[in-house]
Amino acid sequence: MAFGWIDEQAELRRRAGLVRTLRPRPADSPLLDLASNDYLGLARHEEVVAGAVRSARRWGGGATGSRLVTGTTELHTALERELAGFCGFEAALVFSSGYAANLAAVTALAPHGSLIVSDAGNHASLIDGCRLARGTTQVVAHSDPDAVRKALRTHDGPAVAVSDTVFSVDGDAAPLAEYAEACRGRGAGLVVDDAHGLGVLGDGGRGAPYAAGIAGADDVVATVTLSKSLGSQGGAVLGPARVIEHLVNTARTFIFDTGLAPASAGAALAALGLLRREPERAARAGAVARELHARLTAAGLEAVRPDAAVVSVRAPSPEGAVQWAAECRAAGLAVGCFRPPSVPDGISRLRLTARADLTEAEIERAVRVIGETRP
Ligand code: PMP
Repeated sequence: MAFGWIDEQAELRRRAGLVRTLRPRPADSPLLDLASNDYLGLARHEEVVAGAVRSARRWGGGATGSRLVTGTTELHTALERELAGFCGFEAALVFSSGYAANLAAVTALAPHGSLIVSDAGNHASLIDGCRLARGTTQVVAHSDPDAVRKALRTHDGPAVAVSDTVFSVDGDAAPLAEYAEACRGRGAGLVVDDAHGLGVLGDGGRGAPYAAGIAGADDVVATVTLSKSLGSQGGAVLGPARVIEHLVNTARTFIFDTGLAPASAGAALAALGLLRREPERAARAGAVARELHARLTAAGLEAVRPDAAVVSVRAPSPEGAVQWAAECRAAGLAVGCFRPPSVPDGISRLRLTARADLTEAEIERAVRVIGETRP
């Protein structure tokens, strides 16, 4: 029978208790949300929703075509200008997702004969970018500038190092300034994925590259998603204008993909406007994360010290993590649950997101529920 082998895989998943299921989220969920990536609580902010509605009314429900044909509106170019300006880069290019932006950045900047040095903790979308690229990938130890330096020394010709700025599983930050220095010493480029840094790190949420003093450098390229702090959907690559022009002409996930929906562009623009007007939101997300961590640690739980808005709590086993998250949910708290194969190190975790709009009472309640339900 065709696809017979998938039934065998399904059975193995069932036996291991690792089946993933889709659960529609009610529009007015009664759960306290520490599972989404809506770090600044902007996804349902009145101005962000109004930005989406206004843009859909003006431009329609979809972009109608690829960016190079009919899919570029003045909203897209305004968003690109605003993202580049806010984050401190020369230029930006908007994609339909952060995933597509990462595939574009890595594939377009790692031609045949090049070396890609990739941090072992990188997000799946950067890993897939490495797999698709024509260059050769060398995976190096997590957050280790010496390992990057050593790998770059082995290669003559074009090279690029690739890293998340804030790692999505444990919430720890990469040594960006040291990575940039290691690359500069070898004439290599640096591509960093700031999905979890934008809106949280850097002055007023300008992102991790800005915070590390490497934004706008001619050898640094950053990718971002519009789907986390900005409460919208989509992604972008930020960098020198010549790199952006190169992407427009060569990046397959730009050229062959329908442009970002106008509503998403309008929502992201509105969110950036809010960030400029209310810069304190960014610092609040970090403060909530540190408070969550302190309280969890005081309750005897093993949590990783957060560098941004992600707080990771160790679970004893994959099954224990799944059960822990389910019991939190039954007690009114939504938390993320990371377990193999999403985590290659085999360590299962609860993943909490420290939203800037969480109240003291909500933080206290979250920690109490997590403590009471621990396996
Ligand atoms: N990079 C990282 C580090 C992420 O966590 C994610 C989203 N999970 C992405 C990229 C992909 O972004 P998007 O959801 O916009 O495709």
